[in-house]
Amino acid sequence: MANVLVVEDDQFVRSAMIRELSSRSHTVRSASTALDALREVSQAAPDVVILDLGLPDLDGSEALKMLRAVSDVPVIVATARDDETEVVRLLNAGADDYLVKPFSPEHLMARLTAVLRRSRQAAAPPQICQVGGLRVDLEGREAELDGAPLDLTRREFDLLAHLAFRAGHVVPRRELLAEVWRQSYGDDQTIDVHLSWLRRKLGETASKPRYLHTVRGVGVKLVAPE
Ligand code: CA
Repeated sequence: MANVLVVEDDQFVRSAMIRELSSRSHTVRSASTALDALREVSQAAPDVVILDLGLPDLDGSEALKMLRAVSDVPVIVATARDDETEVVRLLNAGADDYLVKPFSPEHLMARLTAVLRRSRQAAAPPQICQVGGLRVDLEGREAELDGAPLDLTRREFDLLAHLAFRAGHVVPRRELLAEVWRQSYGDDQTIDVHLSWLRRKLGETASKPRYLHTVRGVGVKLVAPE
């Protein structure tokens, strides 16, 4: 299910597409000129735009360019010309996919589904991260070390996850306070105490670190052990 904007000046084609998309539970808005489409995109923030290239007010590639200037929304262009050069040019100009008219409802749905899948994957941040033998699953809120589950408190998990998803980078203490403790200031000891608990659970110590490395005066870095 998605919010789809259909941009098509041919009333017959437009109605058919709206009917088809609505019957598959999509929410559909429509526009019949490029300028209406621009307004719709900035006001209604659709998930995907199907853009007819033969609009009365603007040349198709101009319309695409203007759309791209205001939004990253996925755009499927509908062209009457089965012309490879033209299609390549449009894809380079920011179209995500294309349909050659006349297209079947099945073809439209297949393109729409593929484009939505791609854009949702791109939008979703990774939920699982693996650093050496350490595996952190954000969604399941589970962490494992060398295949064995770690029994962590909520705060320990948040701390470990924050560091693991930034593995290899020194995370400043103030960032940890802000992101893990939701505090704008605080005591370094709070972090140190949780770090030492976490170290114990990871089977390491501050003097013999494996994953958790304190960079004095700066922050903490999580790395895969050598
Ligand atoms: Ca047209």
